[in-house]
Amino acid sequence: MNLLELTIKEAHDGLKKKDFSSTELTRAYLSEIKKNDKKIGAYLNLTEDLALSQAKKADEIISSGKDFEFLAGIPCSVKDAILVEGEKCTAGSKILENYVAPYDATVIKKLKSKGAVILGKTNLDEFAMGVSTENSAFKVTKNPNDLNRVAGGSSGGSAASVASKEACYSLGSDTGGSIRLPASFCGVVGLNPTYGAVSRSGLVAMASSLDQIGPIAKTVEDAEIIFKAISGKDPLDATSKDYNFEKSNLKIEGLKIGIPKEYFTDGIDPEVKKIIENIIKKAKERGVKIIEISLPNTEYAIACYYIIVPSEVSANLARFDGIKYGLSNKSSKDLFEVYLKSRGEGFGPEPKRRILVGTYALSSGYYDEYYKKAQEIRNLIREDFINAFKKVDLIFSPVSPIPAFKIGEKTNDPLSMYLMDIYTCPVKLAGIPAISLPVGKIGNLPVGLQIIGNHFQENNILSMASFIEKML
Ligand code: GLN
Repeated sequence: MNLLELTIKEAHDGLKKKDFSSTELTRAYLSEIKKNDKKIGAYLNLTEDLALSQAKKADEIISSGKDFEFLAGIPCSVKDAILVEGEKCTAGSKILENYVAPYDATVIKKLKSKGAVILGKTNLDEFAMGVSTENSAFKVTKNPNDLNRVAGGSSGGSAASVASKEACYSLGSDTGGSIRLPASFCGVVGLNPTYGAVSRSGLVAMASSLDQIGPIAKTVEDAEIIFKAISGKDPLDATSKDYNFEKSNLKIEGLKIGIPKEYFTDGIDPEVKKIIENIIKKAKERGVKIIEISLPNTEYAIACYYIIVPSEVSANLARFDGIKYGLSNKSSKDLFEVYLKSRGEGFGPEPKRRILVGTYALSSGYYDEYYKKAQEIRNLIREDFINAFKKVDLIFSPVSPIPAFKIGEKTNDPLSMYLMDIYTCPVKLAGIPAISLPVGKIGNLPVGLQIIGNHFQENNILSMASFIEKML
């Protein structure tokens, strides 16, 4: 048996039958990481001592013969924007290079209470800004399917760790597509939860009205197990909501699936289009009703997103002043110089670009013209989905217009990077959930299907995803 191949469910069953211990499983992953990760670059930092002590604890619970949680003793990785107490949390930035998390994020508290094992922290675009992990201040994560290509971003390290069997599952975060895009590029499952379904407490904030933590896993069933474990109301996040997620037994036959006509026009790779259309055809043959829908404001989504996000970024990143957290310039003559130099040295080009754009968009002379206008468009995009869900139960679309691109191919062209979010960011502006599910390959490059649902309909999304997973 190859321990690294097992899903959460299979590993849980193996632990139950005492085929292996959590310590053995954890050591298997740690040695794979040490052997393989020089090549992939999924991890920024291993939490080996923590992992082994958690595994030991899990083994004690398991050997006591009591029932134990699905996640108990199963090793995972965590995006390095999520705080794990006593461990470094860099958010992929020089400004936080030596920052040690003083407390656990709520999702980590939840995982720990279920007996999970945390192997390490994974690479990301700086402060989660990007689509390729090329914006990380530390390294570029390679796509396990083709080492010359990007793993996607910003949770690229998380997706690559699962795809390369260096973790059984991972936690990522999604602001405009950062769970779904790397999941699609790497060929794993990634769920972006409804805004408010999962607590953001302890997630390094990028754009607070959009950020959500979610699972990256080998299978839909695993994603569901993780989602159930991390979701729900948290007093530390006022935007989180009571949510007792339960699996639904969705009747697939007769279900109405919307296909947004705006998502299948210019710019989509014909091979990606073919794979998605083939899935739609197969689902139709199994009794699903396919209905063309329109999301007319899609064309404004990127422009709207790239005003709102930088605006929130400029406010959120103001806290990194060289005093409160992380890097602090020591040669400065006065306080103002500490601010300037620490931020100047600490932030990379993408956060700087967004701070500038955001500060401009929020400035008194331009607020109405940019930020307010973007918020109005955000409402229109939200209404597009509200109207669509009057006619259909779920929506199918590609995750990204192209499969994983070559490392370096787009680094000099931020706009072409921004365009990668075209199918993933409208969902975020509307605050609704969506999954990325691997459904095909172009050569050895995976292609993901996006299944979008209405607010708090993760159960329907997961049921449909699991139906399609079995259909493949
Ligand atoms: N690519 C998008 C951005 O750069 C999304 C990133 C994310 O979801 N964290 O903003």
